[in-house]
Amino acid sequence: MAIDRFGRNIHYLRISLTDHCNLRCIYCMPEDQTFRPNAELMQDDEIYLLTKLFASLGFDKIRLTGGEPTVRANIVDIVRGIAHTEGVRSVSLTTNGVLLHRLARPLAEAGLNRVNISIDTLNPEKFKRLTRWGKLEDVWDGILAAEQAGLTPIKLNAVVVRGYNEEDVVGLARLTVEHNWQMRFIEMMPFAGVTDVQTGQSVTAHEIKERIEDSLGDLEVANNGKLDGEARLFKLPNAKGDVGFISSVTQPFCSACTRARLTADGRLRLCLLREKEVDLLTPLRAGATLDDLRHLILDGVWDKPWGHGLAEGVIPLNRAMNEIGG
Ligand code: SAM
Ligand code: SF4
Repeated sequence: MAIDRFGRNIHYLRISLTDHCNLRCIYCMPEDQTFRPNAELMQDDEIYLLTKLFASLGFDKIRLTGGEPTVRANIVDIVRGIAHTEGVRSVSLTTNGVLLHRLARPLAEAGLNRVNISIDTLNPEKFKRLTRWGKLEDVWDGILAAEQAGLTPIKLNAVVVRGYNEEDVVGLARLTVEHNWQMRFIEMMPFAGVTDVQTGQSVTAHEIKERIEDSLGDLEVANNGKLDGEARLFKLPNAKGDVGFISSVTQPFCSACTRARLTADGRLRLCLLREKEVDLLTPLRAGATLDDLRHLILDGVWDKPWGHGLAEGVIPLNRAMNEIGG
């Protein structure tokens, strides 16, 4: 079991499969973003080996992310390999949904349990403005394909950016009336690369909730007030699904954090918003034994920071979001 010095049992691993992406969301990366050469990223066999090691230390919940995980070559085989690793109980994927209309079924057949799909607005022009390159229609088809393939419950993510989509939260929340989906609104967080947008145009969960309630009625607390992952859940009157708020900036959930991240280049990152990392890939390539690697992981987890320092103005600048894996 991997325990940190505050007694938290860390058993949820988010693996960034690649820093590459087929979109350029304005809150995530600049349009001229350059990416790491493939040789610097974990290769398939390295991903399997590290997953096996983490699973042997009690990591039973894996989420694949990026960058855009579906642009990684062999994504279906990678999911199959991870899903069949002893000790892994669930495998999920965070995706922009662009390629999901053709990948949902093979991924489900390979053992994927669930997907989170990013969709920031239901307006095609605004969607293009936010993602720079995306077509809303593709994402919508992806959501429906995921539901049909049984990758449920469907969770949708929207990052809210002032001047871009703060008015669109109402239409997105309304989706939960007809669909048994979870629509989650994420407070924008500051990272390297695009900090001007991120610090100047953020919208709080409180404001988003007020906007939704003004148009659609009161949001009732759901899930008995318990966090679902990082989301606080609510329900609109007579809705099939839930509305969630991920208020990492204004109401952090650090005390309940059970996660660690593996970056696309094989570094163990203990907190999304802290720069501290432990390099696993370099020692692995240099011939470290499995026991050496296990110790590196356990020592890193032990030193996991208590929480982020956004309130004190600490912004992680060593990496952009797409490299860490959101
Ligand atoms: N490409 C996939 C996607 O967009 O869902 C997976 C990777 S993306 C980095 C993971 C999540 O991080 C997405 O839900 C995205 O909206 C979110 N994200 C990206 N930049 C963010 C930021 N600055 N603040 C908060 N969330 C962010
Ligand atoms: Fe790509 Fe996801 Fe970042 Fe958008 S948020 S640029 S889809 S990695």
